[in-house]
Amino acid sequence: MKQDIKKFSNNIYQIDVFMEDKPGRMSCYYIDSTDPILIEVGPSNSFPYLITSLESLGINNVNRSAMTHLHLDHIGGIGHLVEKYKNHFVYIHELGIKHLPNPEKLWKAVSSIYTEEWLKENWGEIKPTPVKNINTLKDEQKISLGNKRNLQAIYGPGHAKHHYTFYDEYSGTLFMGDTLGLIYPHGDFVQPNLPPPDFSKEVLFETLDKLSNLELKYLALAHFGIHDKPYLLIENAKESIEVWIKFVSNLPTLSNAEAAKVLSEWLVSNYKVLGIDDNTINNYINNSHFEMQIQGIRNYLTK
Ligand SMILES: [Zn+2]
Repeated sequence: MKQDIKKFSNNIYQIDVFMEDKPGRMSCYYIDSTDPILIEVGPSNSFPYLITSLESLGINNVNRSAMTHLHLDHIGGIGHLVEKYKNHFVYIHELGIKHLPNPEKLWKAVSSIYTEEWLKENWGEIKPTPVKNINTLKDEQKISLGNKRNLQAIYGPGHAKHHYTFYDEYSGTLFMGDTLGLIYPHGDFVQPNLPPPDFSKEVLFETLDKLSNLELKYLALAHFGIHDKPYLLIENAKESIEVWIKFVSNLPTLSNAEAAKVLSEWLVSNYKVLGIDDNTINNYINNSHFEMQIQGIRNYLTK
């Protein structure tokens, strides 16, 4: 089975879980320490890739994991994780207690955007997680990794109201989930990710400003990988979000589908002007659900 694991300094492993069977779409992270932890699990269909990668590192049991938020590309495989590893528990926002043991509502919410057929085929069906395997997070909670190293959970709404980022002060790495947006490998600009129903510019900017106050060396994104220049990337994300909102607010008469097409075409032309190669452009465009972005922005604009 294909694998792509990158070891960074301070024993942080980036594991590509080949979301939708493609490379460079979804990163999980494993911090190897006295008390190790997995960050994100990925969708159900990615679970075999995750396990094969962990086993190739000689890791045959994982006691705990931390999930940034309750979107299925990040947590779809949780049920598999707690079934595979004895005594495994997951750290997650308190809404996890409500939804993970009975994931039907999560499934329905995502199906309404992507369709059920698409979800089953691309991300895979989800399994319930028993309450006993769930540990709810509190803002600023420190999860000990042993040897005086901590992973601090920082509540960070804006992309989703159930979003946490995880800060490893020891390495200066912030595990961002989807708070920032997307950076596909090549890495010097951010493409926003602003889904309904929770996206709010003010809330997200407040989160990003709070995160900018941390001492950062690296941002570890779910989509995708670890990037340096953290403060520049955060500023870049904020600029792009402003521009996107303005652009979409100027398309009031178009349907969501029409506006999505106009937005993606406009982005392609912008990226070309910036001199970005076609491969990278295709990566950004094909891996983004623009109709969802339009829905998220329009929902925010009517708030
Ligand atoms: Zn995501």
